Amino acid sequence: MEKKNIDWSNLGFSYIQTEMRYVSNYKDGAWDAGTLTENANVTISECACVLQYAQTVFEGLKAYTTKDGRIVTFRPDLNAERMEASAARLEMPAFPKDRFIDAVEQVVRANAAYVPPYGSGATLYLRPYMFGSNAVIGVKPADEYQFRLFATPVGPYFKGGAKPITIRVSDLDRAAPHGTGNIKAGLNYAMSLHTLMDAHRQGFDENMFLDPATHTKVEETGGANFLFVTKDGKIVTPKSDSILPSITRRSLVHVAKTYLGLEVEERPVLFEEVKEFTECGLCGTAAVISPVGRIVDHGKEFTFPSGMEEMGPTIRKLYDTLTGIQMGTIEAPDGWIHVID
Ligand SMILES: *Cc1c(COP(=O)(O)O)cnc(C)c1O
Repeated sequence: MEKKNIDWSNLGFSYIQTEMRYVSNYKDGAWDAGTLTENANVTISECACVLQYAQTVFEGLKAYTTKDGRIVTFRPDLNAERMEASAARLEMPAFPKDRFIDAVEQVVRANAAYVPPYGSGATLYLRPYMFGSNAVIGVKPADEYQFRLFATPVGPYFKGGAKPITIRVSDLDRAAPHGTGNIKAGLNYAMSLHTLMDAHRQGFDENMFLDPATHTKVEETGGANFLFVTKDGKIVTPKSDSILPSITRRSLVHVAKTYLGLEVEERPVLFEEVKEFTECGLCGTAAVISPVGRIVDHGKEFTFPSGMEEMGPTIRKLYDTLTGIQMGTIEAPDGWIHVID
């Protein structure tokens, strides 16, 4: 198959319309058969529940080419399960797991010309999402929903190597106690935009959010979970009900334990403790791990011993092992690599 004439290694992370996307509609208590379509536009009522009351959830995963030329996705079953959990929290129907994976396969196959070649660092980003589509003015869930899944090629997250970033402690929260911090929903992003732009205006790359109830424990950033490394080489990752359960973080925890023989602690992490750690990384599908070099808390700076030039050695090992598993150069645990023929 002829690949598109795209300068893969210089792609950014922005939307590029591809040929086909998948659509299925839910009405009268059931999903229709679903289909691929060329139509990249959504037409819904001006009063659709998603537009009035933000009833929408989403997922993010990637398709890419492995060393031996197969097109694969990474653990799409976990994206399907997480989307079901997110949907349940917003009183939306489940989109069945087998159908979610079928939609992933159909969209990737139909846009195979957009799957970047091995070694380019670029990937085909997949965005499944679902929203309440019929008119709702009194506050209640919609009766009708649309599930869509589109693909857009995105560039290597780190152009010219992963430089550690500087993050700041945000005064604003991303999630309320007992709220919706643990689901993947646009509403959690809408409320993070102001503090994100404020961080950028002040010269920081990202926000560190603390636990909403006490502001003493580390939660996550706007879109990635934290991993820390202790002086004696243990991995520590925050545990909290208001953190989004990152598939990358869960995979890295497994890699740390079983591939690298590291001890892993998943527990509440006090912000106080952070200055005891030697390395810090942010985990998410987009970058796998972004190294954090410095944290600024209201003018007080802390630079990790790993510094501002490169990834620390333990984060590097985790990054190399997981990306090796994803790219097919290191044997994957059963079920992690989903081949699309
Ligand atoms: C998507 C997301 C992550 C990362 O999850 P992955 O499954 O690893 O991509 C982390 N935090 C938030 C808030 C997210 O929305």
